Amino acid sequence: MAKKDLMFFTPEFKTMIWGGSKMRDRFGYDIPADNTGECWAISAHPNGDCTLKNGEFAGKKLSWLWENRKDLFGNYDSDRFPLLLKVIDAKDNLSIQVHPDDSYAKVNENGSLGKTECWYILDCEPGSTLVAGHNAKTKEELCKLIDDHEFTKLIREIPVSKGDFIQIEPGTVHAIKGGVMILETQQNSDITYRVYDYDRLQNGKPRELHIEKSKAVISVPQNSVSAIKTGDEPGLKKLVTCKYYSVYKANVKGSLTFGEKVSFALVSCIEGKGTADGTEFKAGDHFLIPGGYGPITFKGECTLIISKPE
Ligand code: ZN
Repeated sequence: MAKKDLMFFTPEFKTMIWGGSKMRDRFGYDIPADNTGECWAISAHPNGDCTLKNGEFAGKKLSWLWENRKDLFGNYDSDRFPLLLKVIDAKDNLSIQVHPDDSYAKVNENGSLGKTECWYILDCEPGSTLVAGHNAKTKEELCKLIDDHEFTKLIREIPVSKGDFIQIEPGTVHAIKGGVMILETQQNSDITYRVYDYDRLQNGKPRELHIEKSKAVISVPQNSVSAIKTGDEPGLKKLVTCKYYSVYKANVKGSLTFGEKVSFALVSCIEGKGTADGTEFKAGDHFLIPGGYGPITFKGECTLIISKPE
């Protein structure tokens, strides 16, 4: 029996107050404006539902495929597509924010999923940092620092460089800072609580903050969050496994076979070019390996990030 087609999607772009134009420069994306902050590369979320570009079901939305062709996803048991894959270009700082977990989101956000996410640093300027974690030791201290706008005392910043990887659990205060470009694998959720937005204005008004919800979901005290170095040596390396996903980095120099058992998997080529069982791809391309596909062999000189649901 012939293998199923690898599935390529048309991305959904989001302009943002903090966005830039690096996605066009780096990946040749046809971005809608010079403040494009996010590319939802593989998403079935109602706020950005990607369209399949190739194969028998070309033109169908990913959410439609999820509803109607469970076999394409290894019959993975979930009421919605579980993951969301994004490229984020932060020309300016993102708001300092936090995400709820599944149980809080289910009750307080109309049955939405919570958001666990992880970041692979595609690019950043020397000396870059990200916000990850906070210093408050008690809920009272946390609330007081927020109410007093003492954000420099509250937040922790960690140094990052290109190729670093960071897991962000729900309840963790975090922010991507200006000059940093990342690839994000996350739960399929669009729930963000803004704690602080640098007093910026959008169309003359500050963006909404979500102080009470933030105070409710921020975990105290916060475990220290650190960036791991992912390395360039040839081969496959697992970067993280959590309840929702596993993420791997594949440094392909010649040939590499990915044979992990998956319901389905998402592949992002972040550098170089190559082929996947003969199908060509280049940096900036993302595709889905359908359920039941079996081992896949990549050839070429390229760096891939591979995410699979758990
Ligand atoms: Zn986030």
